[in-house]
Amino acid sequence: MGGEPGKDHVPIHPVPVEVSATDDQVPDFQPWLDRIKEVVDPSETPFLTGLSRWLEVKWSNSKSEFLGVTRFELNPNELMRRRRMGAPSGPVIIELNPILVEDQALLNHTFVHELLHAVGFTEHDVRHSELTERLAPAPSLSNSPVLQRLRSAVIVGQEVQGWICGNCGTKWKRSTVSRPKRCPNCARSDVNPYDGPFKG
Ligand SMILES: [Zn+2]
Ligand SMILES: [Zn+2]
Repeated sequence: MGGEPGKDHVPIHPVPVEVSATDDQVPDFQPWLDRIKEVVDPSETPFLTGLSRWLEVKWSNSKSEFLGVTRFELNPNELMRRRRMGAPSGPVIIELNPILVEDQALLNHTFVHELLHAVGFTEHDVRHSELTERLAPAPSLSNSPVLQRLRSAVIVGQEVQGWICGNCGTKWKRSTVSRPKRCPNCARSDVNPYDGPFKG
């Protein structure tokens, strides 16, 4: 369920690879907000009016596991109250993963997905995905260098049985899809694939 706006992210593909930061400008939201306005009913988008004053778009930390995230500063209850009153959402931040600079179509798709949350489609419902597809369709795998890169990283990662810490040598069995960020013993981030054996 995507009902909690503060925790929202594009869930389609985790990002299990290290991504470099980028010097590129973040994309301009105004043209997309104008296009959204053309295809929605105002009653669907309680937070659209005045959003440009509250919205900040930035690149996420290069270790982010998500392609995109939308964060409202206010909590879900307060947001619900504001929605009923037709009041603005207050500050909202959209973070986009810098891996997306390699892939314009996936960047647009992710950005529109998040912008639709920001204007008031806080759920991942049919209407949200229909509008995302209409305004900025997801690229197919064969047209998307980033999806290909993520897919092969996931596939390579799935063959790994476990992990070994390059600092303290602790070995542990795999329990997550993506590579753990830290060693459970010494908390260093020097985590490497390891295929066994596991002792103790
Ligand atoms: Zn979402
Ligand atoms: Zn360690």
